Amino acid sequence: MGANASALEKEIGPEQFPVNEHYFGLVNFGNTCYCNSVLQALYFCRPFREKVLAYKVQPRRKESLLTCLADLFNSIATQKKKVGVIPPKKFISRLRKENELFDNYMQQDAHEFLNYLLNTIADLLQEEKSQERQQNGKVVQNGGGGGSGSGSNTGEAESAEKNQQTWVHEIFQGTLTNETRCLNCEAVSSKDEDFLDLSVDVEQNTSITHCLRGFSNTETLCSEYKYYCEQCRSKQEAQKRMRVKKLPMILALHLKRFKYMDQLHRYTKLSYRVVFPLELRLFNTSGDATNPDRLYDLVAVVVHCGSGPNRGHYITIVKSHGFWLLFDDDIVEKIDAQAIEEFYGLTSDISKNSESGYILFYQSRD
Ligand SMILES: [Zn+2]
Repeated sequence: MGANASALEKEIGPEQFPVNEHYFGLVNFGNTCYCNSVLQALYFCRPFREKVLAYKVQPRRKESLLTCLADLFNSIATQKKKVGVIPPKKFISRLRKENELFDNYMQQDAHEFLNYLLNTIADLLQEEKSQERQQNGKVVQNGGGGGSGSGSNTGEAESAEKNQQTWVHEIFQGTLTNETRCLNCEAVSSKDEDFLDLSVDVEQNTSITHCLRGFSNTETLCSEYKYYCEQCRSKQEAQKRMRVKKLPMILALHLKRFKYMDQLHRYTKLSYRVVFPLELRLFNTSGDATNPDRLYDLVAVVVHCGSGPNRGHYITIVKSHGFWLLFDDDIVEKIDAQAIEEFYGLTSDISKNSESGYILFYQSRD
């Protein structure tokens, strides 16, 4: 490990090594690469890292998954050495304590873990906000006298709404709009729904743009799937499509590579070659999208290696200060940008055993 670390430092070179940056591998505690790979990707999502580190400096709270994550990120960020290995022991044991799904030594789904982690952090932050609000509310009630204007209720409602937004939402949350057009009366109804990541279907020899187009393809609802139209007051044939209305700061794209095969009675891996660009613009945005022109840069990719969801291995490639690095548990290596192509997947379906991009993290330039 030591030899590998110093080799990395030498390869980057003392002049080129980014100031205040640390490249640390994470020890594997028995099939915890699903966790290590996601943590590394998130560490190199800069807005996320900054918020987690800022959380660390706030007054001490009781131990939670977020305090353990903040301690881990802080321990990486404050290392004297530039490269090395850290055991994420406290974080893993907290994770196993909090969720029985992860309380074992089996390989888990990295996407499931990402979902769990982001939602848990958002819940913790919301809880803290509502506690603060209660405390502040008491102060206002005790100290405040006099009649309040009619506008104050709306103000309160607005701030309550804002308080539900945490920095997890500020960074990862986007909005989808689900538009349904009745084919009888042409009335369009739309329903918005928020997301922290998007899961897209994959097809052989395609690209992310193709996957996103597929995600937003028009679907016709007919026969037994007819839609209840409020205007017609009856079930009608309709066209439905899902488009992005608010683009997130960091777009996390999950490629649905694990598919349940009815014939096999188990999940199998789709190793399809799906090209992902270094720069991405979304084309499946709605007409009223607030920021449709956002330009995204690829910053991290969680890669699944192997043939199935419960076997195999996860690694991560990240971009940091113009370098591409590969994190494989305790090993960190510098790689060429061209090497990313190796993680697109396979053009041949014969071998399911591949190293293929599984979760992509794109960060907006603005
Ligand atoms: Zn209708």
